[in-house]
Amino acid sequence: MKSDQRIANNVSGHFECSAKRNVSRNVRKAFALFSFFILPFSLLAQKPAIYHVVVVGVDGMSPDGIQHATTPVMDSILKVAAYTFKCQAVLPTSSSPNWASMIMGAGPDKHGVTSNAWQPNKQTIELECEGTKRGGKPSGMWPTIYGELRRQKPNAIIACFNDWLAYNRLFEKGVVNRQRDANLLQAASHKGYKGITKKAARYFKKKQPDFMFVHLDMVDHAGHHDGHGTQAYYDAVGIADQQIGKIIRAIKESGVAERTMLLIVADHGGIGHGHGGDSPEEINVPWILTGPGVVNGELQVEVNTYDTAATLAYIFGIKAPECWVGKPTIEAIAQ
Ligand SMILES: [Zn+2]
Ligand SMILES: [Zn+2]
Repeated sequence: MKSDQRIANNVSGHFECSAKRNVSRNVRKAFALFSFFILPFSLLAQKPAIYHVVVVGVDGMSPDGIQHATTPVMDSILKVAAYTFKCQAVLPTSSSPNWASMIMGAGPDKHGVTSNAWQPNKQTIELECEGTKRGGKPSGMWPTIYGELRRQKPNAIIACFNDWLAYNRLFEKGVVNRQRDANLLQAASHKGYKGITKKAARYFKKKQPDFMFVHLDMVDHAGHHDGHGTQAYYDAVGIADQQIGKIIRAIKESGVAERTMLLIVADHGGIGHGHGGDSPEEINVPWILTGPGVVNGELQVEVNTYDTAATLAYIFGIKAPECWVGKPTIEAIAQ
């Protein structure tokens, strides 16, 4: 846990914690940037009618990572966010089952994405319900928030920018306006976040999408390569924090910050050099929502990763499919 002293220092802008003294200027800069983004929110007592929602999903980013890395942007966000560091990932704590659960509003027992080997139309279980069709063709998957938003709000602008190339197979084909993978050369050197952040920021400024998902992969890579809880891992979390700052800057520059929600999530944590098991280090993940009408503070209710899709549907004002088991985290949002 971060000490009260560190939080107090951070608020005052005089960041004295010896381990982080050299970042005080960055902290102040990020805080100044973020204050523009958040100030209007605190003035809004009720749920505004129009939202843009940006989800930044940082692969493998554990609560421990946020608490021990240099994360001035997320530190500032936490001061105004509704958040928990105990959002529950699903088993197995692998990437595909968890990204799928997050956008599909249910667990692997329902949507069938049980491993990274999963592919659409190759289900091992019979699905209770079906995702949004493309030109009358079955989607071959459980309904996702992407498909539901497209079906219920045909004019919505939906975008996905993913550093992990396999992410985009997890939602229905043809339902997003824009999808871009990381540059292959950058992805190969685990620097795909550079291009992805740039593309996402540019797209947000140009189109102000209703829904944009940004997936960043470098933290998971550091967890596998160097180990969770190592300096290299924390450095990668610090890079993720900088990318989030760039996305926030784009939202602010696009002039819609007061109508934009930002959700920061992770698919799983990790232990040693990996993940997939059922330890608290792998299962507990951050879930951090900020934006207009968000109720600030640590959430006192249980949040599961599959509640994310239902919460997004609630924010968009669309109906969640009856087969979703996740519930919107309404405690995070002023009623
Ligand atoms: Zn992952
Ligand atoms: Zn991994």
